[in-house]
Amino acid sequence: MIDKKKFYINGQWVLPKNSNEIEVIDPATEKKCAIISLGGKEDVDKAVKAAKRAFESWGFTSKEERVKLLENLYTLYKKRWADISEAITLEMGAPKDFSSQLQTGTGASHIKSFIRYLKEFKFEKILGEHAKNQNILYEPKGVCALITPWNWPMNQTCLKVIPALASGCTMVLKPSELAPLSSMILAEIIDEAKFPSGVFNLVNGDGATTGDALTSHPDVNMISFTGSTRAGALISKNAAKDFKRVSLELGGKGANIIFKDADSEAIERGALRCFRNSGQSCNAPTRMLVEKSMYSEAVERVKKFANELKVDDPKKEGDHIGPVISEAQYNKIQSLIQKGIDEGAKLVVGGKGKPNGMDKGYFVKPTAFADVNNQMDIARTEIFGPVLSIIPFETEEEAIKIANDTPYGLTNYIQTQDQQKANRVARKLRSGMVDVNGAGIAVDAPFGGFKHSGIGREAGAQGLEEFLEVKTVGGWNN
Ligand code: NAD
Repeated sequence: MIDKKKFYINGQWVLPKNSNEIEVIDPATEKKCAIISLGGKEDVDKAVKAAKRAFESWGFTSKEERVKLLENLYTLYKKRWADISEAITLEMGAPKDFSSQLQTGTGASHIKSFIRYLKEFKFEKILGEHAKNQNILYEPKGVCALITPWNWPMNQTCLKVIPALASGCTMVLKPSELAPLSSMILAEIIDEAKFPSGVFNLVNGDGATTGDALTSHPDVNMISFTGSTRAGALISKNAAKDFKRVSLELGGKGANIIFKDADSEAIERGALRCFRNSGQSCNAPTRMLVEKSMYSEAVERVKKFANELKVDDPKKEGDHIGPVISEAQYNKIQSLIQKGIDEGAKLVVGGKGKPNGMDKGYFVKPTAFADVNNQMDIARTEIFGPVLSIIPFETEEEAIKIANDTPYGLTNYIQTQDQQKANRVARKLRSGMVDVNGAGIAVDAPFGGFKHSGIGREAGAQGLEEFLEVKTVGGWNN
């Protein structure tokens, strides 16, 4: 079993103050695969103190110094690619190829893109020709608490750690206790890249104790959190006490509006985007809204697609899907499938129980319900498993109304070959992102949500600015 009991604090791997351990479970086998420690208040305090001390110098480093260290980090990340990818497969069950290409790949893309934005970013500018003595300075926010989930572990971690480093902030990362191994490799990389001690710290632990201690610590200036809407609300309360800056990337219940003039691959593409990563993506299009005249055809095509989608061991190569993260998540998905049946939705494919021959591991059958009403629980709750709800609509207005009738607002999808219609509908959707005809959202485009899907944006230039305060100096003269 992998022993990962130490935390990374002030440039060293150290044991926790009090021993309190938990096991990391491989979701494909249900076996323990690693052991980590849960940080207490004292561990958090030690890490925050180290970050606060380091900020005194790191906060005033030049952009060139930070670019150089980030370039070291990028080189080392690429060298450890296989280790990161294997760790992700082990800790959260992403299949081997998916883990390497997408899970590890997106982390690398973010590092590369943030280096580019850092090089271009102007940390100082005058207000305008009319007021040349008014200087606007962009300064690091200070000590950041970075809290990440398990579903895209390296993507989420890099979206926070890299812009925090780039902007001159110092930080304490608390990765998900369910999938901490890939983040611990990132800590090793940061150590090897020779960032000054205390700039980056990692403390493992759960939400209720470690996460709470970190987000309520008075010396933390900013919290960047990705996870559930439930935890996001608790964290915001902690932040409010002393006006910490908060950036929240929360849940979603994306609609995929399929008009009758959609391209020939739209249905299968939509189903794949829902089932990929075993349905564990905040931006998954889990509500497929289909125009009435092609509704029956769409239901049949989803059925065929889900029946043919392979669920298999994540340690194997191939384009199958793996298990879901945990027993608790497996049980939650099972009860929501039952709920869909009880609510009167029509189970088209999949359903309760494990796929044939997959008795061990938290594997779920790709499942689709037709004739779903948007008021049903399965259409309103973020299931976070491979479960699709298909909902019919008759008019463009009705589709927009259904799509927007959700507390969430992360990503919506539109499928039509009428570009004018696509643009018109995109403007009306209340979400941070809209993906038309599978074009995708660029790695450096602003990523984030409206409504209960969060506050703030990650990635690219805007992701870097999230970590910066703006200061105006009147009477500045160069
Ligand atoms: P979670 O909220 O249970 O946990 C996320 C992280 O927060 C973990 O590190 C956890 O230990 C910590 N945490 C939990 N309670 C906390 C508390 N009270 N105080 C401080 N920290 C706390 O979520 P999860 O189950 O790990 O992740 C799945 C959720 O994340 C889904 O809802 C998904 O939509 C969301 N998500 C959102 C995005 C996005 O960018 N919008 C991306 C990925 C995942």
